[in-house]
Amino acid sequence: MTETVECVVIGAGVVGLAIARALALDGREVVVLEAEDAIGTHTSSRNSEVIHAGIYYPPGSLKALTCVSGRRALYAYCADRGVPYVNCGKIIVATTEAEMPGLEKLRQLALANGVGDLEYLEPRQVKVMEPEVRCVGALLSPSTGIIDSHALMLAYQGDAESCGMMVAFKSPVEGGRVMNDGIELRVGGPDAMRLKARIVVNSAGNGAPPLAGALEGLPASAVPKRYFCKGNYFTLAGCKSPFRRLVYPAPEHAGLGVHVTIDMGGQARFGPDIEWVDTLDYGVDPARAERFYAAIRQYWPGLPDGALAPGYSGIRPKLQAPGEPAKDFVIQCPRDHGVPGLVNLFGIESPGLTASLSLAEIVLEKLAR
Ligand SMILES: Cc1cc2nc3c(=O)[nH]c(=O)nc-3n(C[C@H](O)[C@H](O)[C@H](O)COP(=O)(O)OP(=O)(O)OC[C@H]3O[C@@H](n4cnc5c(N)ncnc54)[C@H](O)[C@@H]3O)c2cc1C
Repeated sequence: MTETVECVVIGAGVVGLAIARALALDGREVVVLEAEDAIGTHTSSRNSEVIHAGIYYPPGSLKALTCVSGRRALYAYCADRGVPYVNCGKIIVATTEAEMPGLEKLRQLALANGVGDLEYLEPRQVKVMEPEVRCVGALLSPSTGIIDSHALMLAYQGDAESCGMMVAFKSPVEGGRVMNDGIELRVGGPDAMRLKARIVVNSAGNGAPPLAGALEGLPASAVPKRYFCKGNYFTLAGCKSPFRRLVYPAPEHAGLGVHVTIDMGGQARFGPDIEWVDTLDYGVDPARAERFYAAIRQYWPGLPDGALAPGYSGIRPKLQAPGEPAKDFVIQCPRDHGVPGLVNLFGIESPGLTASLSLAEIVLEKLAR
């Protein structure tokens, strides 16, 4: 038998939960279908937990717009709902004179994105703020912060549940078909069933493209090719962070460089690096530590031998192959693919956590149109 519901959100990561919350607060009947047995077990719990300011993205891109508006909304939301966060700020360091023009480019990019609070720091000012850091110049981003991402997801889930939303765990969506009056989904797992909904939001992270490909009636041209770009982290074994702020090197091609972030418990972690992979395997190869030592010692020469321990990894859902230019977030709506009620989110890599509230607003607006 086929059950019917008004809205289905596929994926209980931070973005799926933010969307489910927005739909539920809008008075819709919402069911979230999640393949795993808990919320946020994939990318949403395998990231740097940084509230990004919105510096790095091409002006006018969805990444830039949703990061800046999402960051403002997120700080306000965390303060209101008691989600732990610290607006600790970050410094982006140039370790050679050759990197200094890169800092100015970043400052200009930030300005174009509406992030006007970056300040230049002389090496002596950096010494006072972060005595362990070596650099020839730096930018301070005061509006960057850190957040407890799991507490955020629980808050989104709580808001949505108080408006009647339900999460069905161990409910992998295996495929579906577009019908005249909605989309019928084939749900696997222990309680396999068919579920029909007028609105379906595919927010399945790394699983979103194959899921879209398994929807009969969605043109194949609407389904992008996916690529996995793993980011590995190493932690500082047995000591507290020597830094009070986040410290980033000048950015590199597919990521932001091996940076230091601090978790809410004050532990330092380094990463993520860049490793293009073919499968969703989260193991961290201890041999990668060598490259971390070299990259970190550029700005922290005092990193002791043997201090790094393998931490965890996350896998960026990329829409571009290695070496190709970075692609923007894709929020594909009925006007784009012709299927009423279907929204697909593709390539929601960083800054998706920061942008989550803003992405949810956009999905709501697109569905209202
Ligand atoms: C290394 C790394 C560092 C990052 N650092 C930051 C950062 O510091 N700040 C920031 O703002 N962003 C950061 N991000 C980005 C951020 O983590 C992501 O944008 C965000 O977590 C994406 O959330 P999501 O809900 O789209 O995806 P996910 O968290 O991956 O959730 C997708 C969910 O869908 C489920 N699913 C998949 N297929 C199916 C199916 N067929 N049926 C049912 N369920 C399914 C999965 O089980 C999963 O729970 C980082 C990302 C990475 C990889």
